[in-house]
Amino acid sequence: MPVPVSQAYTVAKYVMTQKVKGVKRYPLVMMLEPLFRCNLACEGCGKIQFPDHILKKRVSAEKALAAAEECGAPIVSIAGGEPLIHPEIQDIVEGLIKQGRYIYLCTNALLLERALKKFTPNKQLSFSVHMDGLQEEHDKSVCRDGTYEIALSAVKKAVQMGFRVTTNTTLFNTAQPARVREFFDEMMEAGVEGMMVSPGYAYEKAPEQEIFLERNLTKTLFKKIFGDAKKEWRFNHSPNFMSFLRGDIDYDCTPWGNPTYNVFGWQKPCYLLSDGYVRTFKELIDTTDWARYGQKGTDDRCKNCMVHCGYEASAVDDAFSVTGGLRLLKAGMTFRRSATYTAEELERFDNQKPYEGAHACATNSTEPSAKDELLEKIQSRGTTPVKSDEEELITRN
Ligand code: SF4
Ligand code: SF4
Repeated sequence: MPVPVSQAYTVAKYVMTQKVKGVKRYPLVMMLEPLFRCNLACEGCGKIQFPDHILKKRVSAEKALAAAEECGAPIVSIAGGEPLIHPEIQDIVEGLIKQGRYIYLCTNALLLERALKKFTPNKQLSFSVHMDGLQEEHDKSVCRDGTYEIALSAVKKAVQMGFRVTTNTTLFNTAQPARVREFFDEMMEAGVEGMMVSPGYAYEKAPEQEIFLERNLTKTLFKKIFGDAKKEWRFNHSPNFMSFLRGDIDYDCTPWGNPTYNVFGWQKPCYLLSDGYVRTFKELIDTTDWARYGQKGTDDRCKNCMVHCGYEASAVDDAFSVTGGLRLLKAGMTFRRSATYTAEELERFDNQKPYEGAHACATNSTEPSAKDELLEKIQSRGTTPVKSDEEELITRN
């Protein structure tokens, strides 16, 4: 099992309790974005394009902990932006641990190796390192050379120090199944506990729109990646979610399963879309027009979405029903089998035109600032950033 038994037990007990109480919409993983500022500017990012005055804002530790308490989700994913540049990140982590939550601290790992001394290994804390493939793919995706080596070194150091380390990987239409499989081997060799993989969401604000996958192509891509899966590979997903990605099971989205709290408040309806904000989790649940979203909804922005923050909670909820439990057993038993394809699927996949143009990297702000100039300087140099660049970026936050 790629998570500690105590975590699996906590989640199972929590979901069963919600079911017994008859709670129709319950949160499973709270997405906490304590800031949008980041020290990278990736091509598929939809989070860092806010004006500078928003990028300067942070959720205080006090507010973050109060939001987690009100929400009650057993797992908190601390995303961003880059959470490690939040000045109160230790207080947030320690407070969430005290509340009994399991934490995935997402990071691009540029600052991880130096930040490790601020934390203590704990079964409730896992670093979730952003890795978008092998060196070439990752560095291209995050728009900076040398980042893969820095992140891999930090992963190995964290594992060596006894921390739980997972990876999160976003795949676009540039993904080559054989290379992704090689990447899985490399992560397992580095000692990561489990891997998370998700298709990229077509953020309207992302600078590069040509890279996003259409739903049917996503399914074929994941069949090709997961077919004949090696027994050494460990994934941090429910087997039913992985069957969903391969197109073996169909789910609708449960956006309330991964509610998002950030500098604006609780975000409607999900981590990916921002159709308004409210002050409390209760208001989010009570006032969002949920029927509008997901595959059965009317919102076109949901049409091609298969992202884990919308569908992993659907898969977990399903696993706690009788038929879903059987699907879970079947998914577990058949996961490593060879994939079969229809002629139409193969033709569509083989005929897609992988994006080969220049990569349009994001900037962290729509307002010109000294920080933008610095990022541009780092990106155009195209070499491993020197320490002073990182420190200058942090100082300016
Ligand atoms: S996707 Fe890239 S730019 Fe966006 S928050 Fe993550 S590391 Fe930063
Ligand atoms: S389908 Fe995707 S974009 Fe739409 S509500 Fe669900 S998670 Fe959000």
